[in-house]
Amino acid sequence: MDATQQAFEFIGGNLSLDFANTVGGLPPESISQDRLTNYSRLVLWGQQTNLISEYEAHILLDKAEDDPTAAEAVLEQARTVREAIRRIFMVVAQGVQPDESDMELFNSALAQATAGAQLIVTADGFEWEWRKDAEALDQMLAPVVRSAATLLTSGERQFVRKCAHELCPWLFVDTTKNHRRQWCRTAGCGNMMRVRKHRERQRTKTEP
Ligand SMILES: [Zn+2]
Repeated sequence: MDATQQAFEFIGGNLSLDFANTVGGLPPESISQDRLTNYSRLVLWGQQTNLISEYEAHILLDKAEDDPTAAEAVLEQARTVREAIRRIFMVVAQGVQPDESDMELFNSALAQATAGAQLIVTADGFEWEWRKDAEALDQMLAPVVRSAATLLTSGERQFVRKCAHELCPWLFVDTTKNHRRQWCRTAGCGNMMRVRKHRERQRTKTEP
C-alpha cells in the first residue's frame, strides 16, 4: 500500500499517543512506515483529530505552498517531537525512566506549547485557555505536547501500553476494566498473533 494513502488510525485513547502512532502500523508491511509523509498529511492529521477546521486547513495549505521550506521545517520539527514522545512513552510502558535527552527535547517543546497560557473563570471554576495562532504552520503540535504532559502527570500513565506484537510500535492507554488489553487492535495485531500461535500449535502436532 502506498504510504501516502495510508489512513491514520486513532487507537491510542490519547491525542499524544495517536500522534506517536503515526509511525508504524500493522506488521509486517508497515512496521516503520511514517504516515506523516509530507506537510499536508500533518494538516490532515490535525483535521481528523479536530485540532484544525477545514477552513484553517485551507489557510495552512496555502501558506505551505507559498513557503515550502517553512512547511518542511515544521514537518521535521513534528517528527522530532513525535520521536521524543514515542521514546518517552515506550519506556514509561515498561516502567522505566526516560532518557534525559528526550526529556530535554520534550520540555523545550512544552515551553513553546504552554506559552501564552491563561486561566479563565468559568461557571464552576477555572480553566486553562491556550491561545492559538490560526495561521501558525505548527499549531497542531502544541495540543499534542500538552496532552503528553497531562498524561505523564496523571494516574493514567500506569496504563500506557505498547502493543504486544513485538514488531508493532503502537502505544495506547489501556482503559479496559481489568487492564488486560494487549493489542493495538484486536482485529489487527491480536488476530495476527492468534493465527501465528495456531499455526505453531498445528506444526508441533504434526511433527513426529
Ligand atoms: Zn499492534
